[in-house]
Amino acid sequence: MNLRAWVGRAVDEISWWQRDFGEVAPHPDAVISDADFAASFEELIDRLRDTYPFHHPRYLGQLIKPPHPAAVVGYLATMLLNPNNHALDGGPSTTELEREAVRWLAVMLGMPDALGHLTSSGTAANLEGLFVARETRPGTAIAHSAQAHYSHARNCHLLGVRSVPVPVDRVGRMDLGRLESLLGKENIGTVVLTAGTTSLGAVDQVDEVLELRRRHGFRIHVDAACGGFFALIADDSPDGVTAAPFRAIAECDSVVVDPHKHGLQPYGCGAVLFADPSVARFYRHDSPATYYSSQEPHLGEISLECSRSGAAAAALWLTLRLLPPTPEGLGRVLRAGRRAALRWSELLAESPVLTAYQRPELDIVTVLPAAADMSTVDQRSMRMLHDGMRQERGVYLAALEVAGADLRARGHQVRHDVPHARILRSVLLKPEHEHWIERCHGEIEDLARRAAE
Ligand SMILES: *Cc1c(COP(=O)(O)O)cnc(C)c1O
Repeated sequence: MNLRAWVGRAVDEISWWQRDFGEVAPHPDAVISDADFAASFEELIDRLRDTYPFHHPRYLGQLIKPPHPAAVVGYLATMLLNPNNHALDGGPSTTELEREAVRWLAVMLGMPDALGHLTSSGTAANLEGLFVARETRPGTAIAHSAQAHYSHARNCHLLGVRSVPVPVDRVGRMDLGRLESLLGKENIGTVVLTAGTTSLGAVDQVDEVLELRRRHGFRIHVDAACGGFFALIADDSPDGVTAAPFRAIAECDSVVVDPHKHGLQPYGCGAVLFADPSVARFYRHDSPATYYSSQEPHLGEISLECSRSGAAAAALWLTLRLLPPTPEGLGRVLRAGRRAALRWSELLAESPVLTAYQRPELDIVTVLPAAADMSTVDQRSMRMLHDGMRQERGVYLAALEVAGADLRARGHQVRHDVPHARILRSVLLKPEHEHWIERCHGEIEDLARRAAE
């Protein structure tokens, strides 16, 4: 699709509709001349260039990429109206779009009848999941893995709930033996499982925790902010991911997914879903200024955030209309990134200068330069990171701090002369990585050779 043409069309369509209400002369105090605009606009564009090329397959650092053009056009067209999805009073049509888009996400995650809504982020969505957990299980603690997103411990702190970190196993998943012994000792009412950790893409064994729940009767909240869309390719196929943990999400109490990560959306677009729609009661409040236009429930009545972007809902709706959350739709986009991660793993297995830290479960690949001791691994990784970004048409990686025990658990023969070392971390978030990974691998090997000189 031609982004430029459709952006122009969106501006035209919305202004034609607005003009039907009669011309409005802009207030002189808010009028800006094209000449004034040009100068400031150029300054902005100039400043925006001081960043990293998130759009390019050579950027394989963090979970960042520009949104799909369909999302851009959907967002822009809607933003010109700027509806507020707090209430039907502020966003009548976009509330409907949000309900449809959230239902598609719910079907994707195996919870078709879930109650849910979009949020400004995964953090806000998880806060809601833990808020409902606290209300459902008052006075109990919330357990999460030691590799869970940092915001869980902080959200627990905000909610005044004790959080219990559970150690991880040899590949970064929650250690279920340790969970079981903690369940016997601590008063745990909710277990947070991560379907795709931010650092490694490790997927907690949701299916096996369902067994534990049968015996201990806790609530399960799944943080699939990073990994949720992999449900589309969770089919145990050679270029898919392990099915069982994703299938088990259907049996859990709540789940979070971030469309602004693998869902091709601009920030901020998170989502939270609750299997039991009656949890709406915990949100009960009255708002003297809204909720007049309809007797139907307003999304603001089941959300902790008040104002929410109708444009974010419209962008997600439009994207999922075109690339539906099915294996044949958006699933193909996820699969390309997954294939890139698998191909890179093969290349790493043959490399004399690079070693895979562990096998990737999703599209996050972690790598260390070959070296005899941890301090050298750290130095070389940092040099590769900086040299990669400095050179023209370079490769953009990210770093991950690991402990000596983490390296030992994965069988790396590196002397522990320091307690921690930074290694390289990379997310193959764009389908285009599939066609670039061999080239990027070659360049990363060159960086490793130079760092060893
Ligand atoms: C990114 C992420 C979050 C936080 O989501 P934001 O949208 O950045 O607030 C929470 N959990 C996991 C596993 C994540 O990857």
